[in-house]
Amino acid sequence: MNCIEVGNCVIFPIPLWVSAADKSAFTYLANLGQSVCVTGYVWYIEGSEEKVLVDAGADVEYLCKVRGHEAYQIQTLESGLDKVGVSVSDIRLIIQTHLHADHIVLASRFPKARILVQKDELEFVRNPHCLFEDAYVKEFVRGLKLEVVEGDTQVSREISVLLTPGHTPGSQSVSIKTEQGTAIISGFCAIRENFGSPVGKMSSPVIAPAVHTNLFQAYDSMLRIKKEADIIVPLHDPEFLAKSRIP
Ligand SMILES: [Zn+2]
Repeated sequence: MNCIEVGNCVIFPIPLWVSAADKSAFTYLANLGQSVCVTGYVWYIEGSEEKVLVDAGADVEYLCKVRGHEAYQIQTLESGLDKVGVSVSDIRLIIQTHLHADHIVLASRFPKARILVQKDELEFVRNPHCLFEDAYVKEFVRGLKLEVVEGDTQVSREISVLLTPGHTPGSQSVSIKTEQGTAIISGFCAIRENFGSPVGKMSSPVIAPAVHTNLFQAYDSMLRIKKEADIIVPLHDPEFLAKSRIP
């Protein structure tokens, strides 16, 4: 980036759960046999006109009892929000990166929030491919106040969404102006290594998400984020367990 555009927003990572995973479940064909402690967050953005959250999150009850994952709760949604000074009824807008269940389960807990989602993602949850039937649960979007967008969209003066498909058909990343430049929360499940230096025989600047509906789109979306962001925020990286705010 030659010219850094600054703004007033601050992102507060709110970790809800952790789970051990093999890195290769995130980095396509790389890091097999290395483990990582992936983290499920919601992200509160302060400094915009209204109170904005990125992703509605999931609870361990759903992840363990329904999905059979081994996940451990860090805190409840309500206590996590409380630590940054807001409650579920304060949140007016939830930007939904994508509609995998682990990102949308808790949306019905926000009584006043509009849920911003890409058109392609909404169509997919209503009619998912059989390979993704487990990850997409129609019931989680039923009854929500959906705000459907198509493509890159300016959400407020300092926040915009970027259509970054590939992990899912309508993954959207969230671009936020901060005092240290543009922070982009990846719209797809990723860890830092996805954006880091290449490993093994993969001589590419990024490693595509292991889970994808279109590998080429996923790769191009990652390159776009790497080019446009001053600060990259990979959606599931554990580093934000130790960071209370970005920047
Ligand atoms: Zn995820």
